[in-house]
Amino acid sequence: METLPTLDAHAHLAPSRTPTELASSGAVLAMTVSLDEANLGVARREPWVAWGVGCHPRNLRAQQAFDPDRFGELVERAAFAGEIGLDKGSRVPLELQLRTFRRALRVLAGRPRMVSIHSYDATGLVLEELKRTRVAVPVLHWWTGNVTETWEAVALGARFSIHSAVARQSKFRTSVPLDRLLIESDHGYSDPPAAIPCRVEWVEHLVAQQRGLSVEQIRLLVWRNLGRTLGEAGALGLLPPLVAAAAREVCSDASAAPASPFTRETGRG
Ligand SMILES: [Zn+2]
Repeated sequence: METLPTLDAHAHLAPSRTPTELASSGAVLAMTVSLDEANLGVARREPWVAWGVGCHPRNLRAQQAFDPDRFGELVERAAFAGEIGLDKGSRVPLELQLRTFRRALRVLAGRPRMVSIHSYDATGLVLEELKRTRVAVPVLHWWTGNVTETWEAVALGARFSIHSAVARQSKFRTSVPLDRLLIESDHGYSDPPAAIPCRVEWVEHLVAQQRGLSVEQIRLLVWRNLGRTLGEAGALGLLPPLVAAAAREVCSDASAAPASPFTRETGRG
């Protein structure tokens, strides 16, 4: 592979975006906030964009309309689930959020799916639910947990998708293991998808500086983390073929890094 594209583990893209608009977004795991949106997303076939199935804890209508059977049917057709989770700052009553989150986790338990989980201001509650109902690959988005909570999350098999605000926290810098790291833009609907690589690169720079690595090493690392994580879970083949192929190539290159022009530039291996 000549150049490894950016890998965005959490962004929001309108399913109405045209293939041309998505052509230069890099590899993206596109979250959905409601089952209606997910229904549109999972029907799409993009070379570099995978669509998840979500029910956002800040979206009252989506939370009220959540149906676990429909969620399960959509998850069967999707590469991953997200965005689901809890948020104590949301106007959606916490009781309703908890009910939806628990039902979603029960559907996901035992299925080979990565799950992007919103945890803002609700880290302890999210961990409690994940202990009660284990899912294959929990990926914590907007993680603000303390060091002890982060270790608890690691013990539960969690990965952490980091955007710039999270990257600036010292707790993240010191306590999230490198092999659990993913990078995200948390891009919004109104921003152009072509801006995603710039936003991901900015987070790559932040994390690279904090961890004493090069930007190229961080990019390789997150691709390898995705490939290994989903490979172990049996979920790599669910991703769009080009994304799965890039992840496999990076993982198989791990023992022969100089074979890739991208890695040779960085001096790895
Ligand atoms: Zn999000």
